[in-house]
Amino acid sequence: MDRIYLDNNATTLVDPLVKEAMEPFFTQMYGNPNSLHSFGTEVHPYMRIAMDRLYSGINAPDEDDILINSCATEGNNTVLKSVYFDYIRNTPKKRIITTEVEHPAVTNTCKFLGSSGAEIVYLPVNSDGIVTLDILKEHLDPDKTALVSIMKANNETGLIFPVKEMSLYCREQGVLFHTDAVQAIGKIKVDVRDTPVDFLTFSAHKFHGPKGVGGLYVRNGIKLTPLLHGGEQMSGKRGGTINVASLIGMGLAMELAVDNLDFENTKIRQLRDRLEDAVMGIKDTEVIGRREIRTPNTILVSFKGIEGEAFLWDLNRNGIAASTGSACASESLEANPSLMAMGVDKELAHTGIRFSLSRYTTDEEIDFTIEVITKTVERLRSISSTYA
Ligand code: PLP
Repeated sequence: MDRIYLDNNATTLVDPLVKEAMEPFFTQMYGNPNSLHSFGTEVHPYMRIAMDRLYSGINAPDEDDILINSCATEGNNTVLKSVYFDYIRNTPKKRIITTEVEHPAVTNTCKFLGSSGAEIVYLPVNSDGIVTLDILKEHLDPDKTALVSIMKANNETGLIFPVKEMSLYCREQGVLFHTDAVQAIGKIKVDVRDTPVDFLTFSAHKFHGPKGVGGLYVRNGIKLTPLLHGGEQMSGKRGGTINVASLIGMGLAMELAVDNLDFENTKIRQLRDRLEDAVMGIKDTEVIGRREIRTPNTILVSFKGIEGEAFLWDLNRNGIAASTGSACASESLEANPSLMAMGVDKELAHTGIRFSLSRYTTDEEIDFTIEVITKTVERLRSISSTYA
């Protein structure tokens, strides 16, 4: 069997149709869309189609903005720093409320803004691993808070946060709301009319699009200071020549992701559940978070007495790619931050392994993975000093 890729929360295979759609924009229609000649203008209709696909994918009204950028890290930085400039710096509202389990693209930007005069409040998660509306209500003082930034789905656990209720509440309270929806697109419905967020970030490479391109949704009427000043691209809200090929690819990837939502929530969920049932059959194993409130493709599992990194290498030797958590944190051997925030003890937090499936995952791959996991746990436990 070829290698098996179960690390789709880190990045995904580019859909062959997406790759094909992008190709002409490297060697034939390569004009700068800002140029006035035909090389420049001929790409406009294709860009329009891609933008329409993005708007339709998140059900955004025409009057709202979707800024095309380089990645979700840029989108998250843009929101947080722009709110700092426009709504915090010279006002009495100094507070940004976020959670203890955001991606570093939010957490580290918040830390930076904290050192520049903003007051950052990190909401704890409950025993289910999520932040609830009640937790938010307890901490939200509308006279002091400029922004609430809470992810739609967690990258490590797959746990889904009640962003609809929280954004509705923030709207009532006159507080801006941002959601990092990177792990939600293509896995659960994302709809900015139904869920009234002011900002939403996404990234193409998480839903079978290319790397290095993302989108930032901004509700009409919300002020936005650009992160990148420069030319008049994106109506002056994000300077820099648009990566046309990648935009075309992201548009199609979004459409395909939405078209495949049912498949993801039936077939892929079923495969994930089968994997989950099998690992739960192994003694002293814990899966983090109830499966009903997780994205259909994700499972974070901890095998008592087994160091996550050691497990990962054994899987890798067998051709299986999984992860110990956020790809961006994988250079450090720290305990999994989401697990620590959930109050999981430190030993368990070192043993978390994330398997994340995609619409390309097959039954045979899951069968083989179950076989390898079972043998690996047995082998590693037999040589573990902490497992008796
Ligand atoms: N937010 C979340 C929840 C993520 O999972 C990731 C990537 O892992 C990012 C942000 C960063 O995305 P990008 O790689 O596009 O910067």
